[in-house]
Amino acid sequence: MSLHYELRCRECGKTWGNAPRSFCEDCFSPLEVAYDYVSLKKIVRRENLAARYFNMWRYSELLPLPDDFVARSAVGGTPLVASRKLAAKWGLKNLYFKNDAVCFPSLSFKDRVVATALAAARRFNFTTVGCSSTGNLANAVAAQAAQQGFDACVFIPADLEPAKVLNTAVYGARIVRINGNYDHVNRLCAQIADRFQWGLVNVNLRPYYSEGSKTHGYEIAEQLGWALPDNVVVPMAGGSLITKIAKAFRELVMLGWVEAKPVKFFGAQATGCSPISDGVKRNLQRFEPQKPNTIARSLAIGNPADGPYAIKLIRESGGWAEDVSDPQIVDAIKLLAETEGIFTETAGGVTAGVTQKLVGQNRIKPEETTVVCITGNGLKTTDAIAAEFPATEAIAPRLDAFEAYLDAQLGTTAASARA
Ligand SMILES: *Cc1c(COP(=O)(O)O)cnc(C)c1O
Ligand SMILES: [Zn+2]
Repeated sequence: MSLHYELRCRECGKTWGNAPRSFCEDCFSPLEVAYDYVSLKKIVRRENLAARYFNMWRYSELLPLPDDFVARSAVGGTPLVASRKLAAKWGLKNLYFKNDAVCFPSLSFKDRVVATALAAARRFNFTTVGCSSTGNLANAVAAQAAQQGFDACVFIPADLEPAKVLNTAVYGARIVRINGNYDHVNRLCAQIADRFQWGLVNVNLRPYYSEGSKTHGYEIAEQLGWALPDNVVVPMAGGSLITKIAKAFRELVMLGWVEAKPVKFFGAQATGCSPISDGVKRNLQRFEPQKPNTIARSLAIGNPADGPYAIKLIRESGGWAEDVSDPQIVDAIKLLAETEGIFTETAGGVTAGVTQKLVGQNRIKPEETTVVCITGNGLKTTDAIAAEFPATEAIAPRLDAFEAYLDAQLGTTAASARA
């Protein structure tokens, strides 16, 4: 067993070694992976990374992987896109999109968390893995379980988007549809993890799972030339990703890989499921759980496990949280596609829409470096925008038909385009 990390209670600080457990049995608070940064500093230097491929495994020493771990596929390593058109439109000078819509293998940032969770599943000798999911997590578990030879059994709300269900089924995973919302599914999974010897990635393997999110943050810092941004805008479901990007930045400072600087964390939710942004806006200590009702299904968690930590982080960083309505989500999906050529799912519409709102509120300023986290792919939620793009009229395969079509569409400008 590795000596440089182990599970530690986030509240009472008691350590629990390395085991498939997510709660402290003394105080029932969540566990997280704690590292011995003094020995980490000796094990790895920033310069070591130069010779490695650009994917999440280049940061292996900073992840809770077993000593004999062998990476089986290249997860992560996604583009940081410097925005031109949207930056100009919003009046920003240094705007970037971290594009996990093209994360390998299943086109969302959930590939990162599943990669570290399955490394833990193998180490703890589970042969069946699974999850409770709002869609993307099931896709990622199914894909990576297939590749690595685990049996997969995933639990989802019965009314998920058809494309998200299909994107799980194709890998051969068993899909259990539950009549209920995500919070019902998650409660059931906690009972299943107690009863069955299964590795449920976001339940009994949750501390190892959530560490995978850190690589989204490491990549942002490295792609900015080993520097931290002034602002990050992060979509929130369970509230894990936003807190893990913060952990990643803290670790890079601790290791001396980037210079310390204040980073404001901005959280994004859909108005139809906004317990965390509501908690920030109303300055609550403890958020109020909600019953989700939004097209942003991947963010529809009414009782977020890491909600209190997300609220605390956002508040202490000097950031803010906002939410946008379903029509605003659709508009933002179109805007991001038309300006930056990035087709994101509803969660990305939430993040882009909230960013626009934050710029309008002057919470994000023109000179600052702002990174917007795009976490999932638009091809999975086409139903949400299909009504915006009705099929156009078909024409005969003849030049005169095309000219007539152009005249009808464009009027006189069509004539001037002719030779
Ligand atoms: C799960 C998910 C999130 C949020 O993740 P949390 O860590 O639970 O806050 C964001 N975007 C997409 C596309 C997701 O699938
Ligand atoms: Zn405890």
